Amino acid sequence: MSCFSYPGTYVSGRMKLRLHFVVDPMGWFCISMVLFVWLYNSFIIPKLVLLPHYAEGHIPTTLVVCYYLASLLCVSALFRASTADPGKLAQDPKIPLGERDDWELCNKCNMMRPKRSHHCSRCGHCVRRMDHHCPWINNCVGEDNHWLFLQLCFYTQVLSLYTLVLDFCQYYYFQPLSSVDQAEFAVRHELALLRGSCFMGLIMFGGMSSLFYTQVKGILTDTTTIEKMSHLLEDIGPRRSWQQAMAEVFGTRWKILWFLPFRSRQPLRLNLTSRSHV
Ligand SMILES: [Zn+2]
Ligand SMILES: [Zn+2]
Repeated sequence: MSCFSYPGTYVSGRMKLRLHFVVDPMGWFCISMVLFVWLYNSFIIPKLVLLPHYAEGHIPTTLVVCYYLASLLCVSALFRASTADPGKLAQDPKIPLGERDDWELCNKCNMMRPKRSHHCSRCGHCVRRMDHHCPWINNCVGEDNHWLFLQLCFYTQVLSLYTLVLDFCQYYYFQPLSSVDQAEFAVRHELALLRGSCFMGLIMFGGMSSLFYTQVKGILTDTTTIEKMSHLLEDIGPRRSWQQAMAEVFGTRWKILWFLPFRSRQPLRLNLTSRSHV
């Protein structure tokens, strides 16, 4: 497996998107499945539930706009998490004089790296403060894209829960529609399509809720998934408030910015001592 990056689109005065792609057919398959679930629900729910009920005045505009907004934020977080550089080490890193003791040699790629970095065998390089390699985004989750992965978990929960509520309302709560074309494919197969949507919603909501919980717990205890799996739990880092821990991951103390996928992240200097690592 390998990966390549290139400096991509210049989006605004301050933000540059550097796109990073991992060449891994298994990862492409997994991310295609995630995209299929997103596409399916983003098409079926408005087509069968939101737009017809909105047209007949059963639901307000706000519900429709919120669904599209949740859908847009979800796919944006997916795009950013899967194409952002997770914290790949430079070929010839410049080690600050005072930090030499905190660096070590990777015995797989033979390069110097800061402690708590990990070599990803799927991507073929070391990643700073690597959490894990996620096939569902076909990318590593590391220091520079952990915040985007958290956003993806959060918005997927929001979108799948919203989808489940709408599926439920369509079955049991909304008034029957009077002006739908009964000959249309989606209308004729409405029950089966909505059952498919419920099934995907339950899997996505269940999976993402537990993942989000373990990710947040890991951030608050300053432990990566790899460290947890290696049972290196005795050396818990300095105690921090949850705001401080989250601010470090998201690169800003402005909480409103924690929810925006389209921005660049600058590391916060919180003066923390480094811990031992895997
Ligand atoms: Zn390495
Ligand atoms: Zn990786």
